[in-house]
Amino acid sequence: MSGRLAVVGLGPGDPRYLTPEAEAALAGAQALYGYAPYLERVPARAGQNRHPSDNREEGARASAAPRHAAQGANVAVVSGGDPGVFAMAAAICEEIEAGPESFRALDVVFIPGITAMLAVAAKIGAPLGHDFCAISLSDNLKPWELVERRLDAAAGAGFAIALYNPVSRARPWQFASAMERLRRHLPSSTPVVLGRAVGRLDERTSVTTLDAANATDADMATLVIVGTRETRVIARPGRSPLVYTPRAAAEVSA
Ligand code: SAH
Repeated sequence: MSGRLAVVGLGPGDPRYLTPEAEAALAGAQALYGYAPYLERVPARAGQNRHPSDNREEGARASAAPRHAAQGANVAVVSGGDPGVFAMAAAICEEIEAGPESFRALDVVFIPGITAMLAVAAKIGAPLGHDFCAISLSDNLKPWELVERRLDAAAGAGFAIALYNPVSRARPWQFASAMERLRRHLPSSTPVVLGRAVGRLDERTSVTTLDAANATDADMATLVIVGTRETRVIARPGRSPLVYTPRAAAEVSA
């Protein structure tokens, strides 16, 4: 008997950002797997089993969910934001590729969610209005030298850059080090947007510059957008500034 596995994006936190498709998948699941704080966002339903796990148990979660589904259950694995952006979808695909034949027989669906960079960008204007890329500053799954090479390449080619996982308790120095690296390529006045806990009660969005951005500005719940040479800040009387990257790019930044 082969079950169903839905890999579901919950969006950044506000229930208004949960898509109807995600809501339906959560309502229909017999078992839910996910990082405990994400599971707490899903309303309790009678008869539904919950399997909360720790943030560092991504691998265990990624193998337990398809095993459960392969027994014939309708299982949902949840991620914050979009499951395909530094989250569970790739971990599940790795399990399916490496796992038993029964995993390949599963009915698997990936249900998109609003990822943090899009939620933060929408709070402040259009900082990702032209070409952009996303880089995770976590060096848990890749060496820091590779992060540095990607920062050099992205800034050198004129991309706006969304930085996920800027710092954590175990990784206190990465954000400051990334800012230092980017200052080699970009003017010190380059706008930097910091969006914290967007879509939640304690959300906060602010604008600074590459020169002024430092480690204390960001925590685990912060998404950072570093603009390009073209990115502009529009000051508005009595309102927060708008930050945008124009649709036309004039020059190569390097
Ligand atoms: N799958 C998630 C990203 C997981 S990586 C997504 O698509 O959004 C975790 C990182 O995402 C955090 O360190 C932070 O940089 C960012 N993030 C997640 N939720 C956020 C939120 N509500 N506000 C700001 N940043 C957030």
